[in-house]
Amino acid sequence: MTQVLFILLLAASVAFFARTTWIFGRAVFAGTPEARPRLDDLPGRLMDVGIYFFGQKKVAEEGYGHRTSKHHLFIFWGFLVITIATVDIIVAGVIPGVSLRLLPDLLYQPLYLAIDVMNLMVLLMIVWAVIRRVIVQPRLIPWTLDAGLILGAIGSLMISHFLTHGYALAGVGESHWWMPVSSAVAKLLGDIGPSAAHRGEVMAYWAHVLIVLTFLNYLPYSKHIHLLGALPNIFARNRSERRLDMPKLNLEDETQWGVGKFEQFSWKSLLDTYACTECARCSNYCPAYNTGKNLSPMQLVHDIRYDMLDHTVARDRIKELEAQIVDMTAYSLSHGFDDAHPHPDLTQAKADLDAAKATEANMPRLTGGRIAEDTLWACTTCGACQEVCPVFIEHPLKILQMRQNLVLEQEKTPGELQRTFRNIERQSNPWGIANDQRMDWANGLEVPTIEENPDPEYILWVGCAGAFDARIIKQTRAMIKVLDTAGVDYAVLGHQEACTGDPARRAGNEMLFQALAEQNVETLKSVNAKKVVTSCPHCLHTLRHDYPQFGGNFEVVHHTQLIDHLFTEGKLKSEKSPVDTITYHDSCYLGRWNREFDAPRNILAAVGAPGGIKEMTRTKQHGMCCGAGGGRMFMEEHGERVNVNRTDEVIATGVSAVAVACPFCNIMLTDGMKTRDMENKVQVLDVAELVAQSIPDVPLSRLVRKKSAET
Ligand code: SF4
Ligand code: SF4
Repeated sequence: MTQVLFILLLAASVAFFARTTWIFGRAVFAGTPEARPRLDDLPGRLMDVGIYFFGQKKVAEEGYGHRTSKHHLFIFWGFLVITIATVDIIVAGVIPGVSLRLLPDLLYQPLYLAIDVMNLMVLLMIVWAVIRRVIVQPRLIPWTLDAGLILGAIGSLMISHFLTHGYALAGVGESHWWMPVSSAVAKLLGDIGPSAAHRGEVMAYWAHVLIVLTFLNYLPYSKHIHLLGALPNIFARNRSERRLDMPKLNLEDETQWGVGKFEQFSWKSLLDTYACTECARCSNYCPAYNTGKNLSPMQLVHDIRYDMLDHTVARDRIKELEAQIVDMTAYSLSHGFDDAHPHPDLTQAKADLDAAKATEANMPRLTGGRIAEDTLWACTTCGACQEVCPVFIEHPLKILQMRQNLVLEQEKTPGELQRTFRNIERQSNPWGIANDQRMDWANGLEVPTIEENPDPEYILWVGCAGAFDARIIKQTRAMIKVLDTAGVDYAVLGHQEACTGDPARRAGNEMLFQALAEQNVETLKSVNAKKVVTSCPHCLHTLRHDYPQFGGNFEVVHHTQLIDHLFTEGKLKSEKSPVDTITYHDSCYLGRWNREFDAPRNILAAVGAPGGIKEMTRTKQHGMCCGAGGGRMFMEEHGERVNVNRTDEVIATGVSAVAVACPFCNIMLTDGMKTRDMENKVQVLDVAELVAQSIPDVPLSRLVRKKSAET
C-alpha cells in the first residue's frame, strides 16, 4: 500500500514537473535565432560544464574583498552529494529493498559519511544565507517570500534527513562513524524505544519525501530555477574572443529595431534568465549600482524572466480559451443555441478571453516600462557584471539591445545624447567641433599623413578625443614623440578619419553606427591598411570586433601593446622616471573586453617609479570603471559620480600619479582629481605621456628623418 501510494505520488509530481518544464522551455524558444554558434565545439563545451558547473570555478574565483559569500559553493556541492541520498530514497520507495545499503561497506560507508557531513554543512550554510539576507546585505539580496520558502525547504530537507536516520539508529540503539551527525541526533533522541522510533522514522521519511517532491515542482517558479538553467547556459556560453557580442542589426527589418519585447531577445539571452543563481556578484561589482543608480544587473535579468513568463502564461491562457470557444460554439450550435441565445458557458468563455487579452495588453512594456529608461541609461557597459557572473550571463548585450529599441523605435533618446548624435552626424565627432580642425592637434609637428606616407606599417588611428579634446591632444602629441623616437613607420588618415561610431553603437543608435562603420571600413580599405594602432580602447574595440561585420578585417593593436613591443625590441629606452609613485587604472574596453592587462603594466615597469608601483584593490579583470563607457561620457550623471568614486580609490593609494591607457579614463580621472582638489598632487598621465617624458627629446620628426634618408 505504501509502495503504491509512493509511486502514485512520484508519478504525479514528475508529470507536473515535466509540464512546467515544457512551458518554460517553450518560452525560451520564442526568442530569435542566435547570430553566433552556441552549440559548436562539443568537447570544449562539455569541458566548460565540468569546470564551471560541476567545478564551480567562477564561484570559487577571488575578486576584490568578495562581499559575496562563497556559501553557494558549499550548498551546491552539498546538494550534489545529497542528491545521491535523495535518489536512494526514491529508488527504495519504488522498489523496496533496493538502496545504497546494498553496496559493499568499503563504498557505502565513505559515501554515507560524505552525505551526512554535507547535510550538516548545507544546513549551516542555510543559516548563514538567512543571516546574510536579513542582517549583512539586506539591500543587495533582500528577503523575499521565495527566498524564505526555498531556504526553509532546503533546511527542512536536511533536518528530515537527520531525523529519519537518527530515529532509525535510536530504534536499534546504534551509532556509526560513517553517520556522525545522524548518530549524534540519535543520541539526542535518547532511549525512546523501538516503536516510537519507528513512528518517528516513518514520519520523518514521509516529510522528507513530500518536501523533495514539492521542492521539485516549486523549483521552476523559484530562484532555484538556476538548478535547471545554469548547466545549459554554461554549455551555450559565448566562447569567442568577442566578449561584447553585439549582432549587426538588420535595419531593413523595421519589425525588430533592438529589443522591445522579450521574444525579440535571442533564445540564448532568454536562457540566461533561467541561469541566475542570485549570487548578486554582478550588482556587487557594478559601478552604476555601487554609486546608487537605478540599475541592478541582477534585477534586470530577473525582470526579463518575469516578463517572459508572465506573457507566456497569459498567451497560453488565451490559446486555451480560444480552443474552448471553438469547441463550445460547435457544441452550442448542435444543441439549439444561437447568437441571440448563446450557451451561458460560451458567453462566460468569451468574457474570460476578453479579460485574458486585456490582462496581457495591460502588462507594462518591457523596454522603458518594466525595465525603466534610467536603468538602461545608467550602464557604462563596463562588463564587470558579465566578468564575475558564475553562469556566464551577458547583461551588457541585453542593455544595449534595449537601448537600440529606446532610440530607434521609441525615439526616447536623452537630450545630451541627441546632441552627441547630431554632432557625430554633422562633424564626424561627438564634440561637434568642425571636422576641418581634425588635424589641428598636430600643429607644429611633422606628422605623416597617408598621402605623404602611402604604404605605412601602421595607420595611427587618432580618435576623436585624441584629435579634439584639449587634454587628450597632449596625449596624442606624446604618442607621436614615442613613435618617432622608436622609428615606427606610420601615417595618420587626417581628415579622412571619422568617429568609429563607438558612442553611437553603445548608446543604441545603430543606424548612425552602421553609416560610420561602412564609411571608415571603405577608407581603411582604400588606403590598403593592414595594421592599425590606436590609443583609444573604444576605437580599438570597434575596429577590432565590430568592423569585421562590415568586411573590415584589420590587425588592430592598442598603443600600449605597440609601446610594450618597442621596449622589448630595444627601440625605446627610458632614461628617467617622471613620477615618484604610480598606480595603473585599467580601462574596461582594453582590460575586461580585450584582455590586455599586462602591456601597460610592463611599460610602467620599464619606465619605473622610484617610490614604487602600487596596485589598487579593484584591478585588472575586477577593475573599477571610470564611468565614461557606453556613451556615458556624453551624458549627465546625477548623485554620486563613478569617476569620483574611482578617483578616491586612486587617492587612497597615496601615489603621486595614476597611469591610464584610454582618453576617456584620462578625462574622467582628471575631472575627478579636480573635484577632489587634488589635480596638483596626483598627476593623471596616459602611458604614452609617461613614456614620452621618460625618453630624450627627438631632434627630428620621423618624417623628416625618412625624407632625409630618401634624398
Ligand atoms: S556593464 Fe557595468 S555598468 Fe553595466 S550593468 Fe554591467 S556592471 Fe553595471
Ligand atoms: S546574473 Fe550572474 S552574477 Fe548576477 S546574480 Fe545572477 S548569477 Fe549572480
